[in-house]
Amino acid sequence: MVRVRYAPSPTGYMHIGNLRTALYGFLFARHSNGKFILRIEDTDQERYVPDALQVIYDTLAQTGITYDEGPDKDGGKGPYIQSQRKDIYMKYALQLVEQGDAYYCFCSPQELEARRMECEAQGRVFKYDKHCAHIPLCEAKKRAASGEPFVIRQNVPTTGTVSFRDLVYGDITVDCDTLDDMILIKADGLPTYNFANVIDDHLMEISHVLRGSEYLSSSPKYTLLYKAFGWEEPIYVHLPLIMKDAHNKLSKRNGDASYQDLYNKGFLPQAIINYIALLGWNPGTNQEIFSMPELIDAFSLENISKSPALFDPVKLKWMNGEYIKALPFEEFCTLAEPWYEKSAVKGKYDYSKLSKLMQTRIECFSEIPEKVDFLPQVAPHEKELYTHKKFKLDTADALASLTLVLDALAQLDSFDEQSIHDCLINLAQENGLKNGQVLWPVRVALSGLPSTPGGAVELADILGREETIKRLKAAIELLKS
Ligand code: GLU
Repeated sequence: MVRVRYAPSPTGYMHIGNLRTALYGFLFARHSNGKFILRIEDTDQERYVPDALQVIYDTLAQTGITYDEGPDKDGGKGPYIQSQRKDIYMKYALQLVEQGDAYYCFCSPQELEARRMECEAQGRVFKYDKHCAHIPLCEAKKRAASGEPFVIRQNVPTTGTVSFRDLVYGDITVDCDTLDDMILIKADGLPTYNFANVIDDHLMEISHVLRGSEYLSSSPKYTLLYKAFGWEEPIYVHLPLIMKDAHNKLSKRNGDASYQDLYNKGFLPQAIINYIALLGWNPGTNQEIFSMPELIDAFSLENISKSPALFDPVKLKWMNGEYIKALPFEEFCTLAEPWYEKSAVKGKYDYSKLSKLMQTRIECFSEIPEKVDFLPQVAPHEKELYTHKKFKLDTADALASLTLVLDALAQLDSFDEQSIHDCLINLAQENGLKNGQVLWPVRVALSGLPSTPGGAVELADILGREETIKRLKAAIELLKS
């Protein structure tokens, strides 16, 4: 039975890499008819951020990543929040202590810092020196029982090698003497991630561990823990790094976007998911647009790449644009509304008319304000803007056209897009003019701009008869002056 877990720490921030880990685990679990489990790794209380749990729940809900077991979905292997499993870890840590695979360490942070500095002064990398490994167990137990602060450390062999297999990175062997005696239980009694992940993956019967490749270097230590317990290891699947460019990882520290940032900027969750699905995995075909069911169908661990993936914001935007174009119109209108509300058109014009213009012209909802802000005011402009070489239009021609247009539009029975269109086109025909010789000056008159999303007809329809007439009259005045 495939059982995959997603084990985020509640940091209040959904890194793109983290979301990708969730997605790949979810896709693999669903593809394999297995179970997908959400486990909250909150044992680092110093990093506690309020509402951080909500960020995780909201992201998963918005992106359609569902889980079968988790804090709010009991599957009999809970609790699924590590801080609620405190007693479990201590029991296993003490088992290792009894076996000699771990030991009590009483070195204070100050002592450790002093030894680290001494080491670094000599140009050596500090590694815990097993100072406390030599304290006889009965003495260590007494000291711990008397209330002396302690941590529990893994007792890594000083000789030999340790090997494990990763599905993406292959067989990896390291010398044990390169590994640190990492802390398993901290002074506050809580486990470190390094310990808790092993215990929980075992107890929750996790078959495949998908996580970022930053954990690859710690994995030999986990292997040693599994061996010490005599437990079978899960299958490891470390995911490639995500880079912002050739030299820098994508990270919050580098100011890079989180899932929330992208969402707030008007990227669609489905587009983000589609994009990150391809960030380190390829379907083996040229297909780029995938629905979630298609991803589940196509996903395989074999096609995960080990080379770093480049996060390309331009590609993401393009993909988002494709998703935006494919939205049912009503849904587009609903999603676009808050962006009109944030722009100069707030409360003005018919939003659905604006949406007809916008849906094919944006790649991201945050582009809406900059695209519609011109509407309420005609931009200051010179007469010359009415001239057009290709249309063989000088200011006198433009004035003549606008005079005809003003008259025709004022008499129009119903002022809607189709009527305005027919009126202007007929007017051009009847007067032996090219369409552009009529439409160009109207567009300039209505906007004061050489290019606008939508042309003369759409603008007139959005502005309405009264405003259109007013702007045409002002343009005529300008051209006469
Ligand atoms: N809690 C770890 C993190 O948020 C997860 C690592 C893992 O998947 O094992 O980075």
